[in-house]
Amino acid sequence: MKRIIIHWTAGTYMPNSVELEHYHYLIDFNQVPKEKASVKCGKCKPEDNLNCTDGSRYAAHTGGGNTGSIGVAICGMLGYQGIKQIGNYPIKPLQMEVCYELCARLCIKYGIEISKDTIMTHYEFGKKNPYTTSRGKQDIVYLASNPSLPAGKIGDFIRNKIKWYQQKLSLKLKEGEPVELNISKTSRTPKTLEQEPAKAS
Ligand SMILES: [Zn+2]
Repeated sequence: MKRIIIHWTAGTYMPNSVELEHYHYLIDFNQVPKEKASVKCGKCKPEDNLNCTDGSRYAAHTGGGNTGSIGVAICGMLGYQGIKQIGNYPIKPLQMEVCYELCARLCIKYGIEISKDTIMTHYEFGKKNPYTTSRGKQDIVYLASNPSLPAGKIGDFIRNKIKWYQQKLSLKLKEGEPVELNISKTSRTPKTLEQEPAKAS
């Protein structure tokens, strides 16, 4: 796999069956019994996207950029119309932390370096590839977890966060601690979510 593209579903906090078809991993959010975000596996495996033209099924998440791309989506943002009208499902900070940690594990598992060309939001992909159907995509131009971040800084902010988790996980691996890189369970949450206030650069 050559890259990860990060989306929001523009749906509710729970993935529906269509969303499960379109992304490899989805991060849901539950309020009851306590606030929890977990990773759900979509219907396709990342490897299904190695070849998107042979007629077999793949996760269609990024128009013009599906081949070799892992699609990670954060569940939420239904009804988003712009900063003044963000709808009733703004992405929760906890979902973002789970997303960063998941992407860090995927980077280690598939040997993906963290750069602007390998980890990007759908919005960034659309900007870079204006002659695809990804042009003008809104995910992710607004981060409810960090509402003061302008659209143009969100990609760097996300990459910095993923880098932080990746370094932490790499250190654990080096020290022989177990790190689960097989993300095959339908639902899992990292046991500990350690955060640091990453800065956008
Ligand atoms: Zn998208």
